[in-house]
Amino acid sequence: MRHLTRLGTFVETVSKFLRELRRKHPDLVRLLDPDDWRRYVDRTGEGCFAPATPSQSKRRLPAAARDLYRLVEQFRSTPAAGLESYQLLARVLEEQCEIVENDPDDDPLSRSAPTVIVKAPQDMACDNVVNPADPDTSYNAHRGLGYLVQIMESFSGDDTLEPKPDLITHVAVGKMNTHDRKALVPALSDTQERNVGPLLLLADSHYGSNECVKEAAARGVELLAPIMTTTRTKQGKLTLEDFELNASGRVLRCPQGHEPVATRATSAYLHVRFDESICTACTMGERCLASGNARFRYRRARVRNRTKRLAQQEPHFRDRYRMRSGIEATMSRFKHQMNMARLRVRGMEAVRYRAVLRALGLNIFRVTAYRQATC
Ligand code: SF4
Repeated sequence: MRHLTRLGTFVETVSKFLRELRRKHPDLVRLLDPDDWRRYVDRTGEGCFAPATPSQSKRRLPAAARDLYRLVEQFRSTPAAGLESYQLLARVLEEQCEIVENDPDDDPLSRSAPTVIVKAPQDMACDNVVNPADPDTSYNAHRGLGYLVQIMESFSGDDTLEPKPDLITHVAVGKMNTHDRKALVPALSDTQERNVGPLLLLADSHYGSNECVKEAAARGVELLAPIMTTTRTKQGKLTLEDFELNASGRVLRCPQGHEPVATRATSAYLHVRFDESICTACTMGERCLASGNARFRYRRARVRNRTKRLAQQEPHFRDRYRMRSGIEATMSRFKHQMNMARLRVRGMEAVRYRAVLRALGLNIFRVTAYRQATC
């Protein structure tokens, strides 16, 4: 699926509407501005929206937004309003533009011409149409453009048992901009209804929130997932994990081995204060939580996360968690061997149908390979 700029989305949406209008309501084409067809479909001559540089694109976007608004208003009360492409036109206008009615007291002549303002990216919802060729696709800066497929598969962590093929037990297709944690409960419900639910579920850190762990436990499932790495760790700074704490979560010693001069607990926070003269001379000062005024505070939930993060570094956790990496191989085979990376269908339902069938195909492939190897 081609990734369009916002101008590209406007132009393709208008173009799609004009082409469908000519096909299904040729009698209404006479209502069009003669220039619309040239600029949006033929894309030739003056003022057309052919491929543009980013600066040209920025200048042309308001003009395209005004055309979008004009077409939506022009065909609102005609049979063309029932066209799928008209609905898309109206949806793009609503999602990406703001219509400001001019105040007749300010400017009596402008009563019939509202101002069409293109919304700033931060003012738009994330579930926008990103390509009119398939309005169900969605975009995520990390994952790209397309559909998000969630997969659960079986595994055996016991090396002493006879190896059996790992089988995909759950497939779900959703929007790219849906957070992974929202996939957990539907996946557990789906597999448990079919009596193939897991007892132990290994997942990546996106599923590792406390809420997810609790929801899985309420369904009798142990969810083993690492906690997300903190921003401070990514920046190379010290975190609460580097401090020594007692059982009630109070700091006993800093990474340099110094004891605090005072600790205090309130209902919301735990506070700790060190000797300012020691912290000022400390070589870790800039990276430390106590940088600046030799003190910091943290919540009790942070203490619980610290305990989990430290437990994650233990061999016991690593040994239990090591099988999770197997799903990466499954995803790779699903995308490339089963050709899910380049689907030739559009729309959520069609993609969902293919995803389920291809997961089934991968299962059959694995069972066949297993039987050939063992029989
Ligand atoms: S800045 Fe203070 S609290 Fe932090 S490591 Fe150094 S001495 Fe310890």
